Amino acid sequence: MKRRDFHQHLQRSAIALALAPWMVAVASPAAADKALAWATNPFALGVASGRPRADSVVLWTRLLFSEQDRAFTAADPGPLRVQFEVFADAALKHRIQHNAIVTDGTRGHSVHAHVQHLQPSTEYWYRFRQGEALSAVGHTRTAPAWHADVRQLRIALASCQHYEQGQYLAHAEIAKQPLDFVLFVGDYIYESSNPQYAIRKHSGEEPKTLPQYRARYEQYKRDPMLQAAHAAHPWVLMWDDHEVVNDYANDQDRQYTDPQHMLLRRAAAYQAYFEHQPVLLGPDANNPANMRLYDQLSWGKLADVWTLDCRQYRSAQACRDPVRGGGRMVMQCDALNDPNRSMLGTAQERWFADSLSQSKRQWQLVAQATQISSTSVPAPAGRAYWNDAWDGYPEARKRLLQTVVDAKLQNVVTLGGDVHCNVAANLRLEPNSPQSPIVASEFVTTSITSRGLGDKPAAVIRDSNADLLHYRSEERGYSLITVTPAEVRCDFRTTKFPAGTEPGLKTQASYVVKRGKPGPQIM
Ligand code: FE
Ligand code: CA
Repeated sequence: MKRRDFHQHLQRSAIALALAPWMVAVASPAAADKALAWATNPFALGVASGRPRADSVVLWTRLLFSEQDRAFTAADPGPLRVQFEVFADAALKHRIQHNAIVTDGTRGHSVHAHVQHLQPSTEYWYRFRQGEALSAVGHTRTAPAWHADVRQLRIALASCQHYEQGQYLAHAEIAKQPLDFVLFVGDYIYESSNPQYAIRKHSGEEPKTLPQYRARYEQYKRDPMLQAAHAAHPWVLMWDDHEVVNDYANDQDRQYTDPQHMLLRRAAAYQAYFEHQPVLLGPDANNPANMRLYDQLSWGKLADVWTLDCRQYRSAQACRDPVRGGGRMVMQCDALNDPNRSMLGTAQERWFADSLSQSKRQWQLVAQATQISSTSVPAPAGRAYWNDAWDGYPEARKRLLQTVVDAKLQNVVTLGGDVHCNVAANLRLEPNSPQSPIVASEFVTTSITSRGLGDKPAAVIRDSNADLLHYRSEERGYSLITVTPAEVRCDFRTTKFPAGTEPGLKTQASYVVKRGKPGPQIM
């Protein structure tokens, strides 16, 4: 073990130790041992795994009480013990670990099992049990060992799954693909509705409280195609805005709500996010409006992967409308160029720059919520910029790309979502300027279901930005990212309108980035 790896190993062990009491100690074990006689299977939201490491993975489920079970157990059944089992085979003959997690109503009866001492690059199957009730069986896979020569990494890149605007056909296909993990970069739920585009309906009001956000996740997580994608693969997760509210920036929302109130809403949303995802750290006990989600994982010698949080710490959008804030096209906006404005916040930005510049792996994959390349358009005076994506944070974008240049990294590929558009783009310190060398490559995936920009504005954007090699907003789907030592390939898998029950996705286009040569090339 090299010195740095040993250090990281120690750090990870320390984190695991620090977490251990939080994970298990909730209340008296006697009370927790109660096995309920369930009228309805409580694992109605399915199972999930995430945060794959060479020796560990997080397993998730949540107990859901039907009306009948709620009536039977009284309002609060108290702490409950949920067993989990990990198997080395699909037939569940060879059980290699089993244990129990105590959960209760304070965490929505969610279960997060941080399973450790696993083998690298290995498949596992798992399930949960409470009383006589058994969950579905999930399948997961660990990351390769730190210094393993890895031939291939297969990722499904996905984002933006408005429940009302389509069926999760992309997830049905993702569930069947041979993958190492699903990389979901945000807008897992939507708080808002657009009734004119709905083919199925959100139940309940726009969520603002913890019970309301929980109910929204319940509706999404009941979808069988989404459950299948979770049961089939580990997920690596980052959020964007709609997990809280459209276009929010740190403690600011579009209505200019008092930041103290906005942070209460954000705390409820983050708590519900944690309760429904296979992630390790929950909201900070001292400040529940904070939750560190940004992270980094390694895939043998092949790749380092970062997931960057572009919402929690960012500066408010520049030149906001004084009545209706949030994202809009802005022009002649001097505030855009304020070097103090940040997309990642100071601490995350420094952490990322340090981590990126130390990376020795063959590829650096930088996952973040939105689009880095420019989508600016000609305006009466100069150009107009969409202030909610990285175009609204040009100095922060320049710092990010300057880190790549300073570290002399040739093989940085950024992966994004949010814009409901498939994008393959060149990244330069000066966007669209042929004099400025291409320093990195970008792929942004279209939405699973959420509606895209109209054809006309998409065409104007495409024709106004030479760095956009591919920019198509009219189809829904996900992107298959295949990483080998020689190249990173992106296949945009799409359908015109995800309304039926059969996947039927096709490849809209394929691009490849060759090692040592930044910039996507069409296949
Ligand atoms: Fe979205
Ligand atoms: Ca978004």
